[in-house]
Amino acid sequence: MSDLLVRLRARGWRLTSQRRVVAEVLDGDHVHLTADEVHARAVERLPEISRATVYNTLGELVTLGEVLEVATDGRAKRYDPNAHHAHQHLVCSGCGAIRDVHPQGDPLAALPAAERYGFVISGADITYRGLCPDCSG
Ligand SMILES: [Zn+2]
Ligand SMILES: [Zn+2]
Repeated sequence: MSDLLVRLRARGWRLTSQRRVVAEVLDGDHVHLTADEVHARAVERLPEISRATVYNTLGELVTLGEVLEVATDGRAKRYDPNAHHAHQHLVCSGCGAIRDVHPQGDPLAALPAAERYGFVISGADITYRGLCPDCSG
């Protein structure tokens, strides 16, 4: 059973077969799928699952805080089950592949006080860009 499923079960989220399939598709490391990709994979396991159900379920998972929405460079939003471990993203400018990465040090500490403009800062999203081995080879 996936970590995401364990978390959802622990929260008492009602696991219908449709919800379970969406959670299973999102299981794993470095998973950043668009809603359409989630739907395409879910249909392989549960042919009757509708696009609307997939979208609604993704929305619920985001509201629960168990899945993150990731926006990269104007491409379609992606869904990331790695919601409980702070991480940043490494994105291939060629094919759009995304890796979870963990830069050293606290990105919040890297912002000088003079550039905080009185904000109470709660988070930082950093995107590292480049070409993956497949695209640079
Ligand atoms: Zn690439
Ligand atoms: Zn991620």
